[in-house]
Parts: sequence; structure tokens; C-alpha cells
Amino acid sequence: MPRPLPDTLLIEWPESQSEPSPLTEQAIDRAVAVLRAEGLVAIPTETVYGLAADALSGPAVEKIFRAKRRPATNPLIVHVADLAMARGLTAGWPLAAEQIATHLWPGPVTIIVPRGPALPDQVLAGGPTVALRCPDHRLTRRLIKKLGRPLAAPSANRSESVSPTSAQHVLASLGNRIDLILDGGACACGIESTVVDCTTDPPQILRPGPLGREALEEVLGRPVKVSGEFDPGNAVKGRAGEKSATARSPGQHSRHYATKTPLELSADSAGRVAGLLQAGQRVGWLSTDSDSVSTRLLAASHNLVVVPMPLEPVFFARQLYAMLHALDQRGLDVIVVDTPPLTEAWRAIHDRLSRAACTAIS
Ligand code: AMP
Ligand code: MG
Repeated sequence: MPRPLPDTLLIEWPESQSEPSPLTEQAIDRAVAVLRAEGLVAIPTETVYGLAADALSGPAVEKIFRAKRRPATNPLIVHVADLAMARGLTAGWPLAAEQIATHLWPGPVTIIVPRGPALPDQVLAGGPTVALRCPDHRLTRRLIKKLGRPLAAPSANRSESVSPTSAQHVLASLGNRIDLILDGGACACGIESTVVDCTTDPPQILRPGPLGREALEEVLGRPVKVSGEFDPGNAVKGRAGEKSATARSPGQHSRHYATKTPLELSADSAGRVAGLLQAGQRVGWLSTDSDSVSTRLLAASHNLVVVPMPLEPVFFARQLYAMLHALDQRGLDVIVVDTPPLTEAWRAIHDRLSRAACTAIS
């Protein structure tokens, strides 16, 4: 018998109020009960929605891997309520970790440090390190505090597919595999956290994210390394190009963040879209140039869905996954995306889009 869909509970905490409403507290208490019973709860964060389980319970964590169909070799990010909880999970706290946690937490940056004995092997994929993050979402921190234990929480989607930035995305992709969804509205950043390895000297960015290299270098007071150099050539090659392996960061595979509809990056997207339409294809187009004449002419085609995208990377990132989810529902043949500008501010978006474009045609 198919499992029933989980309840979706709204959680809100307006800036103007010092405490959340009684209904929100009740929702958090229900989530605590589910997590104590080793169940799975989808939680909002400022990056993307997470699929959470008690990080100190091996059996609970195994349920995450099963629900997401995630390979056991891909370790999970552990979410903490504060710096003290983070330190309790480690066997060493490098200066870089202290600097980042003190200055940039709560925030969209995950640090890799030596693991302590409290965490089960399943969370860490058997490795010697743990990835820790304190989310900038005060309801989720309240949940962790009330539980009194850290939460293992990868993105709440099937492995390799586009991450969820709303409760509705979670319901659509994992609805019958989880126990409860906390709906905290749309995610502010919209892409996954920056991951920084603090066990190396200098520290190394393993996954670019909302918090850029400059912000990190400012708090560390020295340069950081970036794994897998920024390779715009690879980004435009799209599905034919395999991105260089980032071996230090298990799980950072080329194929990731994939839409069901094939996705292409194009430096001349108006030309590419025109060609595809001429060939009879149904096309979705994420365009940062939706006002141009060519865009407006193309938009007259019945086989084209144009999605205007912001020119500013922070806003582009916030909308990106929601727009990809929406286009993926339309039964199109291909999604074309403008190749973003080759600048530091667009690095994380480049990373996600070039991986999305690596999808194998099957
Ligand atoms: P996500 O799927 O968004 O939860 O991403 C988690 C990613 O963080 C993994 O795919 C790894 O790349 C990275 N990560 C998590 N734990 C570790 C770890 N212990 N060592 C190195 N990278 C890690
Ligand atoms: Mg993920």
C-alpha cells in the first residue's frame, strides 16, 4: 500500500514578534516528536529545504539515504543550533573553523573539520571529517535547540535532481517517503551552501555557494584555495563536457542538480533557441535578456516558454531552482539557459548550471 502523504505544517515568525505563534510552536513540537522517533522531517533553511533526521542516530540517518536514493558514499551536512553544539561534534577545531563560525554563522557556509566520536559512521560516509553548518533560519535553529541534538540534513530531493526551495517542491519529489514537512516559505538564497575544508592549509572551497571567496578571505585574513578551478569552457560545453573531479569532496559529481528535461547552456541563447524552434522542438528559456527584440519575437512562438531572469546573481540564484522546477513540469524537449557572466559573483551559479547541463541523455 502506498504511504500517505505527510502533513505540511506552516511555520512563521515575523520579525516584529519576539516569539513564534503558539501554532508554530506546536508544529515544531510535532517535528521534535517525529525526530525523537527516528523519523524524517523536511525543514526550511536559508539555502534550500533539508531532509532532516537525528544526526546521532545511525538508523535515522540511514532513512535519509533510502528516501533520497543517495549513495552511502556521499556524506551529509550536520546542522547545529550554535557554535557550542558544533564543537561538541569534533575532534579538533582549526583556527579557520573558529573564524568562519564566529563571523559567518548563522549563514550559508559549511565547514569541514575532524569528526568526533559522537557521530555515527553513516553520516560521514565512513570518513575522518564532518561537515557542519548553522543555518540562518531561526525557526530551524529553534527546532534543533528543542530537540537538543544536531540534524543531518541534505537537500530534500531525490539524489542528483534539482534541490527544493519550497515545501511544495519537497512534497512533489519526496512526499510519500517522509513523515512531516515544515513549510517556512521560499528559501532566501535558493542554492546550496558554500563548503569549506578547514582541515587543509590554506582552507579550500570544495563547493562554491552563496558566501563567496571574498567574504571568506576577509574573515580568514588570507587567501583560500578553490577546488576544481573555475572553468567556463566546461560550463558552456554542457552535457558533453565532464567537469574536473573534486576528489576531496565526495558527492560533488559532475551529474548533479539535474532537471528531467535536458538542459543546455548557451552563450548565444537567442540563436540557439531560434534553431531549436526551427527544428520543431518545444523549448524553455531562462533569459536574462527578456526585453530584447529577438526575445520578444521568439516569445511569439507557441513552442517556447520564456522565463525572464534577474541580472543580479543573488536574485538569479534565489529564483533559479523554482524556475527549473516549473519548466520541468511543462513537458518541454529542452531548457536553454544563458551562460552567466564569467565573474566571481556568478561562480556558484556556474557550478550548479554546468552540472545540471551534464545530465546523460537517457
Ligand atoms: P548536500 O547534498 O547539499 O547535503 O551536500 C553535501 C555535500 O557536502 C557532499 O556532497 C559533500 O560534497 C560535502 N560534504 C559533506 N560531508 C563532507 C565531509 N565529511 N567531507 C567532505 N565533504 C563533505
Ligand atoms: Mg543535494
